[in-house]
Amino acid sequence: MAKVMAINAGSSSLKFKLYEMPEEKVICSGIAERIGHDDAIFTLKYQGDKKTEILPIKDHAQAVKLTLDALVKEKIIINFDEIKATGHRVVQGGSYFSHSEVFNKDTEDKIESLIPLAPLHNAANLVGFRAFKTILPDVPAVAVFDTAFHQTMEPQDYIYPVPYEYVEKYGVRRYGAHGTSHLYLSNESFKYLKDVKHPKVISCHIGSGASISAIKDGKCVATTMGLTPLGGIMMGTRTGDIDPSVMKYCCECEHKTVEEMYQIFNKKSGLLGVSGISNDSRDIMAAIENGNKRAELAYQLFVRRIADFIGQYYVRLGGADLIIFSAGIGENSPETRQMVIDEIKEALHVEINDELNKQLKGKEGLISTSKSAIKVAVIPTDEEIMIARDAYNMLLK
Ligand code: ADP
Repeated sequence: MAKVMAINAGSSSLKFKLYEMPEEKVICSGIAERIGHDDAIFTLKYQGDKKTEILPIKDHAQAVKLTLDALVKEKIIINFDEIKATGHRVVQGGSYFSHSEVFNKDTEDKIESLIPLAPLHNAANLVGFRAFKTILPDVPAVAVFDTAFHQTMEPQDYIYPVPYEYVEKYGVRRYGAHGTSHLYLSNESFKYLKDVKHPKVISCHIGSGASISAIKDGKCVATTMGLTPLGGIMMGTRTGDIDPSVMKYCCECEHKTVEEMYQIFNKKSGLLGVSGISNDSRDIMAAIENGNKRAELAYQLFVRRIADFIGQYYVRLGGADLIIFSAGIGENSPETRQMVIDEIKEALHVEINDELNKQLKGKEGLISTSKSAIKVAVIPTDEEIMIARDAYNMLLK
């Protein structure tokens, strides 16, 4: 038995989950938010209890120290030595990493060199790793990449039709994201496909950020997110794929720079932008109930884009055996699942059971009927367990 920590560091946050491995038992979890502020928030969840504290946290190193001290104070660990390995989420692995990698100088250098491709994320992921290294210098660590699972795509699926030297000189291509989640879902899908020789799966990770992957024999063949997570389907606050000339035209009309418009496409578009209400599907649904037409339009757009990609991936895979719904919306919103299925059912002969669909909120199970040409399942995703597994398997086993 060994305690392993899965870590997801953002620019101003540090999320963690502590596991007992290989049992995969969650011991506790927590998050430091608003790092860099005098009123930062530290939350620890342990044995059904949630403790929140507001205090100054000046940087990630302090957040790590605070986290480890809290574990000792709550008697979750006796001392820091009990933590035997850490796993760190890294958003952009470029073309370097097709699976997780042990942290060493070379790994660190490569992640650093990819910062221009994911400025906020990779820099923050490295800050998180380095903060742990400072406080736990002898504890080994792995990097687990959001892009790794998508490295099996063929050039036809990842090259953009821009001048080819941009691919060579700047690494412009589709890398995808949410790969750790899609890999988890792919692994979980096999139990529904025991009788299928070469399983074809379309996994829909529909949360605030959202992406869809086409998976054949457990390998990713296509995914919706692109050079960055801005691409693909419409999301809570992101546009997803749009005609690139929209960028130029909106900059001219609004007298904004490319950087300013890029922020708007990332943070003020999607469900939020179209509805003018919220990025949260629950708020949109409530507004639709109240007869708000813009909210209705926003959700119709959202669902249409999901359905369009399912259709595209059905063709790309040469059929499909299973469609998976996952993440915040996919797991918890039967209405959204129903709306997506309504859009694809005529062409793909998919049928779901109303009752089963309504019952499943945050729980796993099949929602398709026995007559459906494609199985449909709800599978709650778990990126943290994938990080803990890699840390355990690569460093301690
Ligand atoms: P991310 O990890 O990208 O921040 P999540 O996967 O946690 O996002 O999804 C968050 C979104 O899930 C929320 O914005 C909300 O739209 C949706 N969501 C969460 N719970 C529910 C629910 N019970 N019913 C409908 N939608 C939900």
